Amino acid sequence: MLAPLFEGITVSISSSTRWNRPAATFTWSGFKGLLPEERFHRLMTVISEGFKAERMAGFIWLELAPGESIDELLKMPRSDDVAAREGQIVADLSSCVFFATLAEELGASPQRQCQSDFRFATKVLSSLKFDAAGIRDAKLVFIRHHAFCDCAILESDLGSTARKNSASGNSAKRSGEQRRIAPRSQNA
Ligand SMILES: [Zn+2]
Repeated sequence: MLAPLFEGITVSISSSTRWNRPAATFTWSGFKGLLPEERFHRLMTVISEGFKAERMAGFIWLELAPGESIDELLKMPRSDDVAAREGQIVADLSSCVFFATLAEELGASPQRQCQSDFRFATKVLSSLKFDAAGIRDAKLVFIRHHAFCDCAILESDLGSTARKNSASGNSAKRSGEQRRIAPRSQNA
């Protein structure tokens, strides 16, 4: 089931004293550099709901890159962690025309260009001088909007604003309109 898409993945089942539940640990080199929610979503694209319900009910799922510990995995950020900062992050992305630039990168058929990951978004964010933490925060916001790959960012409600703008011309100068998404500039 996993082998064609997850070359070299290993799955081990153990009873976990930490949670008092059985744990399924998926170890795969392709998980390296991915956020925990990206890893889980990747697995979910190939594991059927039926298999999950019949064979995996009650399991803790752990997705590790080789050499990573469970503690390291648990310390990684989750999309909920950016909930309070989301407005500002989206405003930052909009004001530097990230969405329009990503749309340009992906061209006329985003789904065909997309490699089912964030490689284009990461490239655009780097070119816009986002640092590692900024890129991570942006990905967590995408995940909060159920986007787990580049084309899904454009299809999400986040990308729809950019799409409308570029459809009506000059996207770069229209970012001012999007500032109203960012209400949290002053602290009371
Ligand atoms: Zn995609």
